[in-house]
Amino acid sequence: MKGDKAAGRILDAAAVAALKFRKSIGTRPQRPAKSYAEMKSIFESPLPEVPGDGEAVIKELAEKADEGLQMATGPRFFSWVVGGSHIVGMAADWLTSAWGQNTANHHAAPSAAAAETAAAGWLLELLDLPRESSVGFVTGATVANFVCLAAARDEVLRNAGWNADADGLFGAPPITVLIGDDAHTTVFSALQFLGLGHDRVVRIATDTQGAMQIPAFAEAIAKVNGPAIVIAQTGQINTGAFDNFVDIVPLAKNAGAWLHVDGAFGLWARASSTTRHLAAGIEGADSWATDGHKWLQTPYDSGYAIVRNELAHRRAVTIAASYLPLAAEGERDPTHYVPELSRRARGFATWAMIKHLGRSGIAAMVERHCHVARVMSAMLAAEPGIEILNDVVLNQIVVRFGSGERTERGDQLTRDTITRIQSDGECFAGGAIWRGRQIMRLSVISWETDVDEGKRSAEAIIRAWRIVKQLPEARTQ
Ligand SMILES: *Cc1c(COP(=O)(O)O)cnc(C)c1O
Repeated sequence: MKGDKAAGRILDAAAVAALKFRKSIGTRPQRPAKSYAEMKSIFESPLPEVPGDGEAVIKELAEKADEGLQMATGPRFFSWVVGGSHIVGMAADWLTSAWGQNTANHHAAPSAAAAETAAAGWLLELLDLPRESSVGFVTGATVANFVCLAAARDEVLRNAGWNADADGLFGAPPITVLIGDDAHTTVFSALQFLGLGHDRVVRIATDTQGAMQIPAFAEAIAKVNGPAIVIAQTGQINTGAFDNFVDIVPLAKNAGAWLHVDGAFGLWARASSTTRHLAAGIEGADSWATDGHKWLQTPYDSGYAIVRNELAHRRAVTIAASYLPLAAEGERDPTHYVPELSRRARGFATWAMIKHLGRSGIAAMVERHCHVARVMSAMLAAEPGIEILNDVVLNQIVVRFGSGERTERGDQLTRDTITRIQSDGECFAGGAIWRGRQIMRLSVISWETDVDEGKRSAEAIIRAWRIVKQLPEARTQ
């Protein structure tokens, strides 16, 4: 190799910087020290006209980026439902880049393809989904939803005598799309990308937790006549609520609809005997989207598109070319299950994380996070003026500040408390709108978070709230 010594120094510099950062995650503020505008002025400079030394570039990058780093790897980060980029997954990801495998087909990249095949089998076992399903390794649940719904769209039209792959949607029989009113925004985006329209859907009324109301669903699906897709979810983004699959599956089947499940994080409830019941019956669906970079703690980008009907999956996204050898019967080409051709070997990090944690380690992690969520919500609920608005069935807590009033004043108090918590930096949480009102959402899902970190964070939140409610502007608003 050209420049052996330089390569060693460059990789060492990256490892040293990475370790330094990871060692600091428990003690530094759980928020970026600098804003985007400040970081822009740090990063922006005239286009380099001449080569720069590799080691110096990596050191400069690590130094420059440090103060603008979001703390999702930290132990007290609860904003957004995102994993903590576990060190084992990260190391596997470094090797993935070092090996530089173009993971399109199994002839060209045998190890990358085989690691995916093995990891796909493990995923189906862990999540207890039909073992005949195919798994596409995509960038995240957004693209997983897209791939699954592409398969759904093609298959329901094929059953109606229409080939959407070849002929597109012009003149195709209309598809009825039924979706819960509290579905994740990215599912609507997937519908948009697929030509199905994010508004051209039948929205099903939901209950207080965001799960589809079964009588409303039954009534809507009884009206279906022709191709139909039902989109349900495990793990509502705010509340963590699950749709009721025991009732939904037979109703969808009876109508001949394709049932898709967005289970970006909630599908991992299947990995523990204590939460498995929440997703009872889900194996009766036709496709499932989930993430690796959430509860499995792989680095970004990692999501899985899982489809029971392998042929429908392959038909919807296969890319064929004369110079790409076709997989023989029984052989799996990674590209056949994703919209991309050239891409990184995502299977390595997934394989490494499952191998490292094992079935029992994954179950224990899910249980730990759910336990921390219950502990934190109990501590918060005991404080006057703090209200928990959801049933804490999983890892999600919906918090509201201000004596129970559903008013603009309560919205403002909640926003002020969030701002205070973020600037204190002891823990990090963000806001969302739930049922038309401002809330703070806590997602307990980072690998580093345990019960002590959860308690410390709940105390910080309570401290922030006590200060906010004393502020004169809060009282007069
Ligand atoms: C995070 C999430 C998504 C989107 O997943 P990405 O990994 O961000 O692409 C979709 N649905 C739900 C319920 C989610 O929590």
